[in-house]
Amino acid sequence: MAVPRNRHSTARRNSKRAHHAKVGKFFSTCANCKNPHLPHQVCPSCGQYKGRSYGETDQES
Ligand SMILES: [Zn+2]
Repeated sequence: MAVPRNRHSTARRNSKRAHHAKVGKFFSTCANCKNPHLPHQVCPSCGQYKGRSYGETDQES
């Protein structure tokens, strides 16, 4: 296993970690109810995807 020869400075370590920030989760807007939902998945609020209803609504009776 490779062993580091020289210790990196604090600035070098921190500049490497500058790209490690967590990015927000991507949401797309439902074409039917305009609520945010995960892309390529059925909308959790109206149960529609690409104009088709898949009957997975939480307000279903
Ligand atoms: Zn929807």
